[in-house]
Amino acid sequence: MFTNSSSSKELPEQITSAKSGQSSKPLASTWEAGEPAPFDPDRAMKYLKQLCDLGPRISGSDGMAKMQDLLKKHFENLGAKVTFQKFEGKQRSQPKSVPMANMIISWNPESKTRVILCGHYDTRPIADQERRREDWTRPFLSANDGTSTVALLMELGNHMKKAPKMKVGVDFVIFDGEEWMFDPKRDKFFLGSDYFADNYRDHRPAYTYKSAILLDLFAGINTRFPWEENSRFEAGGLMEEVWDIAKELNVKEFVFERGDAVLDDHMGLNRVGIKAIDIIDFSYPHWHKLTDLPENCSGESMAKVAKVLSVWLQRTK
Ligand SMILES: [Zn+2]
Repeated sequence: MFTNSSSSKELPEQITSAKSGQSSKPLASTWEAGEPAPFDPDRAMKYLKQLCDLGPRISGSDGMAKMQDLLKKHFENLGAKVTFQKFEGKQRSQPKSVPMANMIISWNPESKTRVILCGHYDTRPIADQERRREDWTRPFLSANDGTSTVALLMELGNHMKKAPKMKVGVDFVIFDGEEWMFDPKRDKFFLGSDYFADNYRDHRPAYTYKSAILLDLFAGINTRFPWEENSRFEAGGLMEEVWDIAKELNVKEFVFERGDAVLDDHMGLNRVGIKAIDIIDFSYPHWHKLTDLPENCSGESMAKVAKVLSVWLQRTK
């Protein structure tokens, strides 16, 4: 993901100290109608660490294969239908293509009107925001960049079978090939989401995707989500719905301000008529750096976003 505006823009200083004091309110065990899912921030962090412990998960690598295996087991055990949408990832700068796969995790697959919660799961081959060139090729775990989305979906997955009745089917869609790029002048971004979008347009399934919410860089400490400009332009109504729910639930991280225009996996979805927005905190100071580690992520930040998503899922029709 990158901004259309200057990429060398100064990012605001972030406070990176751990949050003091955990919420003492006990977690509800059931997901009551109209209420947020009883999302467990500690378990979400456990998933995040478990994925990072696999090491880098670059498209086509062993790390990626191990993660796919882990996720397939996780979501099938929870009762979801898991599909791998396989394709070949090609870049102009690379002599060989690499086998890639988007993962589609379907809940109530019989529903003909569906919504998507999505993000990417591949990690970047190079940590190219590091100042020292020799650091670029050191192992890069990408904790908040992609991995945090997968961790949120893993935790939310624990509650989906016990969710209050929804009017829409829900697909968690995890894209491959978002980060698999080597030469920004020649290579394409967003291989997985573009493939998914083209496939949806060209082989129309028996169901319709109504809307999609993309998560990226959303799990840092002290997050802030302004309106991402491309989302506002392409899917302003959906953006308003989601930010209004956040306001109602007193989730103050969703701020009513214009943010950067970010090119990300939601662009392909909007291109084929799926209204899609990106919930992103582009001021995350560890973006594409070796310090993008679990210790710079927060389960509470994940829980706040999940709170908004889980209410939105019930209201959408
Ligand atoms: Zn990235």
